[in-house]
Amino acid sequence: MNMELYRKLPIPMEIKEQFPLSEAGKKTREATIAQMEKIFSGESDKFILVIGPCSADNEDSVLDYISRLRLVQEKVADKILIVPRIYTNKPRTTGDGYKGMLHQPDPNAAPDLLKGLIAIRKLHMRALEELEFGCADEMLYPENHRYLSDIITYVAIGARSVENQLHRLTASGLDVPVGMKNPTSGDLTVMMNSITAAQHSHVFLYRGWEAKSQGNPYAHAILRGYVNKHGQSIPNYHYEDLIGLYDTYMASGLSNPAVIVDTNHSNSGKKYLEQVRIAKEILHSCQYSKDVRSLVKGLMIESYIEDGSQKIGASDVYGKSITDPCLGWEKTERLIYDIADLL
Ligand code: PEP
Ligand code: MN
Repeated sequence: MNMELYRKLPIPMEIKEQFPLSEAGKKTREATIAQMEKIFSGESDKFILVIGPCSADNEDSVLDYISRLRLVQEKVADKILIVPRIYTNKPRTTGDGYKGMLHQPDPNAAPDLLKGLIAIRKLHMRALEELEFGCADEMLYPENHRYLSDIITYVAIGARSVENQLHRLTASGLDVPVGMKNPTSGDLTVMMNSITAAQHSHVFLYRGWEAKSQGNPYAHAILRGYVNKHGQSIPNYHYEDLIGLYDTYMASGLSNPAVIVDTNHSNSGKKYLEQVRIAKEILHSCQYSKDVRSLVKGLMIESYIEDGSQKIGASDVYGKSITDPCLGWEKTERLIYDIADLL
């Protein structure tokens, strides 16, 4: 092989022993998961907001951002459950660019995966223990999930991974709700097949083990828009898309029909300010149809301290995304209160 295995990394058990989660952290995580399960099963009609930066690029600014969410969460707790995004692994369309905190704990320095493993565990742990938020991450590399499996409370499978067998089978063994995104092509059968796979039990090869998963009844859909053959972004958050997905779900026999609608990515065409309008349109569709309201369990919003995005190393503005452009804090805060009013 033309590849050098140049440093053996600690296994998840070793990292977990070195950086154990506190009892209080465990309790917060379990309580968050219990709340989410009630929402996904329809027992609670609270609305989930999976919200935060496209990538968690810096511990200070991400925790600063999440501490602001804490104050808002207290005020909207009767209607909304906030699940901050701490996205530590980034899929790259061509393989180039920032691969996330796991690879580059310092975005301006060379990759260092040992430092990265510790950095992502610490960041998720501090959000849970200090700010009492169970958070979301993308499971880009299923083999790495166990480094964070005792901390994370929501997992997304990205648009570029959702057709992959190992992602689907690993999702079937997670003890937290897992959202399967529609693929970048927009083919909803890929997403629905992925949910079916994740809801069932499987025997498969995982980290050198013959493993058996239980099946995850809280695997659900995430609509994120798609790109057509001309490279144009096509949204799939409109009323017709949501009713169409409801009908597909009803015919499918799947457990806990549910969708989280991603307001950025190909739904906004990365025009990040449009997220405000898109969120409100979805809430309007929920008011119009109780079927839509029963299906839409929440939104995924890309948001950070500053509006927009910047190139890595070019300006280093604190709290400004270095991957997809995000809605800044003031607009985010207003949007969360507006969403609470519309529910
Ligand atoms: C993301 O959520 O930042 C992301 C990469 O999403 P997608 O897989 O939908 O492109
Ligand atoms: Mn993004």
